[in-house]
Amino acid sequence: MIQFDIITLFPRIFDSYFNESILKRAQAKKKIKINIHDLRDVTTDKHRTVDDRPYGGGPGMILLVEPMYKAIKAIKHKSKARVIMLAPEGKLFNQQEAKRLSKYNQLILLCGRYEGFDARVEQFIDEKISIGQYVLAGGELPAMVVTEAVARHVKGVVGHQDALVEETFATGPDYVEYPQYSRPETFKPAGKKALPVPKILLSGNHAKIRQWRQAQSEKKR
Ligand code: SAM
Repeated sequence: MIQFDIITLFPRIFDSYFNESILKRAQAKKKIKINIHDLRDVTTDKHRTVDDRPYGGGPGMILLVEPMYKAIKAIKHKSKARVIMLAPEGKLFNQQEAKRLSKYNQLILLCGRYEGFDARVEQFIDEKISIGQYVLAGGELPAMVVTEAVARHVKGVVGHQDALVEETFATGPDYVEYPQYSRPETFKPAGKKALPVPKILLSGNHAKIRQWRQAQSEKKR
């Protein structure tokens, strides 16, 4: 069981995605737990302030160090916890990183907004993760990406555990899954040539099918 604790200014963003399909089932089966924390809940002032202008000037607002520090302190309690800041300049996230993070008991994900965090927040984190070399408006989408990719490595979250062994990136960044087909055996779009399923897949010869799939997977790399 991994517990995900997500700190955000926009808690409702997560309602829909985390309450559907695989992540909904994983929570129901108690394979994972997802807590969403509103950063404003740790504030004590009337306006529930979490951001302000940067010293030295510049555009936009940044997230204050104190509310973020308080929120992390209140949430971090598991023995194997990892505090992760979502940041465009962080370490690039991939399947191997997802697998690595799945070994922790608690992942605390900090979602930035506006111009990002006060630099002192970095004193209270373990690592920074980026989901790609582009800038999004907030860390909420990256937090969802990390949560789902990590959760899939928790035993019992993906229905067919074998799927994880054969899927793309399973053995490293160069591995690509073989092509798959289902009904009909031949698909004929109007005005275009027929698209049959490779005959070998209909042969029932599992050793040959395995060989074919391996060759196809090598070809796709
Ligand atoms: N001013 C910041 C900069 O130049 O690096 C960008 C801030 S961005 C508009 C607001 C927040 O979105 C960030 O603090 C981070 O939490 C999140 N974010 C944006 N792009 C991201 C990415 N590619 N990976 C992870 N988090 C990202």
